[in-house]
Amino acid sequence: MKIVRKTKSVEILNDVFKSSSNAFSVVDLIDRFKEDMNKTTIYRILDKLEQDGVVHSFLGIDGLKWYAKCHDCSSHSHFDTHPHFQCQKCGKLDCLSTNITIPSIPNREIDFAQVLLVGKCDKCIA
Ligand SMILES: [Zn+2]
Ligand SMILES: [Zn+2]
Ligand SMILES: [Zn+2]
Repeated sequence: MKIVRKTKSVEILNDVFKSSSNAFSVVDLIDRFKEDMNKTTIYRILDKLEQDGVVHSFLGIDGLKWYAKCHDCSSHSHFDTHPHFQCQKCGKLDCLSTNITIPSIPNREIDFAQVLLVGKCDKCIA
């Protein structure tokens, strides 16, 4: 296994999200880049990208962590309130472009919300 430089690894992962609006599971990413970087590096970079407001993470139906590109986030304002959709048949997961209204609840401060809608995707309905 050849280990690429750390900065290079950050770029590689950054490009994955820049060039696609798909969501990727941690397992997919580890598998895809297993020749280039180890698991720990991938986890660390994903954490960093998330802190910087480049990507956001959420859990899929199988409890796996998924990551997808953020649109208007930064390290200061990182609040993704859109729901995610996962297809039960093929497992595909994507960000939905509608926002949900987070209810304001007395005596609670909400930091993030996670809404997962589950069903069949366009390809699986057809
Ligand atoms: Zn975000
Ligand atoms: Zn599907
Ligand atoms: Zn999303």
